[in-house]
Amino acid sequence: MRRKLAAGNWKMNGTTAALAELDALQGAATGGAEVLICPPATLIAAATTKAGAIAVGGQDCHPDASGAHTGDISATMLKDAGATYVIVGHSERRADHGEPDTLIAAKTHAAWQAGLTAIVCVGETLEQRDSGKTLDVIGTQLAASLPDTVTGANTVIAYEPVWAIGTGKVPTTDQIADVHAFMRATLVHHFGADTANAIRLLYGGSVKASNATEIFAVGDVDGALVGGASLKATDFAPIVDALNAS
Ligand code: PEP
Repeated sequence: MRRKLAAGNWKMNGTTAALAELDALQGAATGGAEVLICPPATLIAAATTKAGAIAVGGQDCHPDASGAHTGDISATMLKDAGATYVIVGHSERRADHGEPDTLIAAKTHAAWQAGLTAIVCVGETLEQRDSGKTLDVIGTQLAASLPDTVTGANTVIAYEPVWAIGTGKVPTTDQIADVHAFMRATLVHHFGADTANAIRLLYGGSVKASNATEIFAVGDVDGALVGGASLKATDFAPIVDALNAS
């Protein structure tokens, strides 16, 4: 396994009191793997003052640096607040806000312009998996969501089957292995081996302490993007520990 990353997506959860979880994560965060928490935007600046060994990221950004976009946040603003990463193309954004791949490519580019590392999410729905379209969907999303100047430093890819997010359902390790090997091969095809091998590939979808070790043993899995189990340090620290031990 290359550079390991355990990323927590708090989604629309947490007020100031939740930042105490960062203190409780510090021990796990010094074990080798990089640890990232993406809290709600309201908490980013405060989180960076307590983050210690933990990186802080945003959950989304607008493709423009500034302008008349009420309620939106730009990558520049996230960077200014202390973020170093931003998630783009999460399936909840794709579904709730109808975000197409072209917009995700623009957001990825905006993240890079601001000096943030983009975590680009891809993943199939259950209907797409059941109809045998998983690899087609992932290949299309990867090709359309990634600008040509992608590097291992500016981008992380998260494979998140939509049907596994927040459901407790997890693909088999063979299914995860198939998709991750396909993603690596697709990246090699589009961007060459050096770039492709430097890009970290995360698995996301109902990762818990009880399944983390077997998921991190899968080839081409460089870490995880974790939702529900990242909210409490008592749940997230064992996942980070499993990644450190992998
Ligand atoms: C996510 O939202 O990115 C996610 C993986 O959620 P969960 O871990 O709760 O399935």
